[in-house]
Amino acid sequence: MVKAFLRKLLSLILYPFKFIIKTLIGLLKRLKFSIAFKISTTYLILYIIIIMTVALATSAGYLIFELQKFEATRAAKDAEEIISTFPDFNKINTEEESFSSFEIFDKNLNTFYTSGGSGRYADNLIVIAEKIVFSNEYIHSESFLKNGVPYYMNVSYPMEDMLRDVWRISLMVLISGAIGLMFFAPIVSSTSYKLIGPIKKMTEITKTITVNNINTRLDVKGTEDELKELSETFNEMMDRIEGGYKIQQQFVSDASHELRTPIAVIKGYVDMLDRWGKNDKAVLEESIAAIKNETDNMQDLIEKLLFIARSDRSTLNFTKEDFRIKTVLNEIEKETKMIDTSHKLYFKFYDDATIYGDKMRIKQAVRILLDNAMKYTPPGEYIMVSGYIQDEYYVIKVEDTGVGINKNDLDKIFDRLYRAEESRSRQISGHGLGLSIAKIIVLGHKGKIKVKSSPKKGSAFSLMFPYLDS
Ligand code: ADP
Repeated sequence: MVKAFLRKLLSLILYPFKFIIKTLIGLLKRLKFSIAFKISTTYLILYIIIIMTVALATSAGYLIFELQKFEATRAAKDAEEIISTFPDFNKINTEEESFSSFEIFDKNLNTFYTSGGSGRYADNLIVIAEKIVFSNEYIHSESFLKNGVPYYMNVSYPMEDMLRDVWRISLMVLISGAIGLMFFAPIVSSTSYKLIGPIKKMTEITKTITVNNINTRLDVKGTEDELKELSETFNEMMDRIEGGYKIQQQFVSDASHELRTPIAVIKGYVDMLDRWGKNDKAVLEESIAAIKNETDNMQDLIEKLLFIARSDRSTLNFTKEDFRIKTVLNEIEKETKMIDTSHKLYFKFYDDATIYGDKMRIKQAVRILLDNAMKYTPPGEYIMVSGYIQDEYYVIKVEDTGVGINKNDLDKIFDRLYRAEESRSRQISGHGLGLSIAKIIVLGHKGKIKVKSSPKKGSAFSLMFPYLDS
């Protein structure tokens, strides 16, 4: 009960202080100080602390030195004189001496003789320091033997003069420190502002960067320090952003270009129909077939573009489940054999495995490779699809003996909308998006996609998916 009451009382008493401290901290947090101001203030506070320590140490040093000197000369002599008068101490007239009073104690530390004083033997530093601080008096104490009996003695000296000197020394150090501060403060402040100058510049430049001047970079000249490193890192980041932005722009421009062709074709046929075709059955049929073909083409392109855009926005969802890969491969084999009758097709699935993945997407990726193999392999040539386990992956390999890919093109075929010159010039249908999509699907399953190809001999594409068990 009492404890709780006391606790409540204490918290009530402390409440105003807590409130003030809380408000102050809140205020300081809300105030926006510049880094330069904070650095300057920190250095100046450090400087003031150093000056104060120096003043204190100098004064203390001076005091100790003077007292030691005093002990060895004056105090020792006076003590000797007092002892020599034992036991007629009243022979000593303190008015004529440099000490103000003295006391003698017997072996039980009871007062034996006193000409004034505290009545207590000053046997330790704390008592001596207490006297210096509160009474401006220095007590010399020593013990002596008289007729084999121990006695103790205090001799008190007024210390006003010595303390005045000590005070003067402190004051002088503090004044010199203050004069130093007048020179030091502007130097510290200007140096700090100079130091953080680049940050200000960086902020100003960064504020002005938009897509229209995305090639703006920070000035990295000057001394080698963390700020230079920061500028360089910022510039490298901007390089990456600019690179990505350019690729995006190129992609948009290429995609628009791809869409222009089918639209132009459709428009051409519509114009033709408008002028002559309405009553001409042959023109009508040709136009409808062409328009249908082009709209299919456009739909295919837009779906592919949407797939890539979704992947970029990370909104592409894979519906994953455990499934046996061979069932999917068997389906693909059946479908391909139905569609393609012009190539020599071989399917050989050596192993089966359970894969955790999106069945439809994996099928889509294999179909992309097969479509390419069919497109880029002349009729009568070979297309082989195999499936087998290699280390921790299930590999689906699509090989052909078709036109192959140039070494220069090999690095780029996975880029969006990239088509090798060969495919463009031969007017083989396609948009250069199939392999980008296959790559997205494979990476979405933590897999790999590999290609080996030599021009005019053929290509081999491998999709590699991690599997659960065989
Ligand atoms: P598309 O086939 O629609 O042009 P892809 O992204 O699927 O787009 O392929 C990109 C390019 O890679 C193709 O234009 C073609 O030049 C090359 N390529 C892909 N597969 C093969 C292959 N099996 N044989 C030869 N070249 C291929």
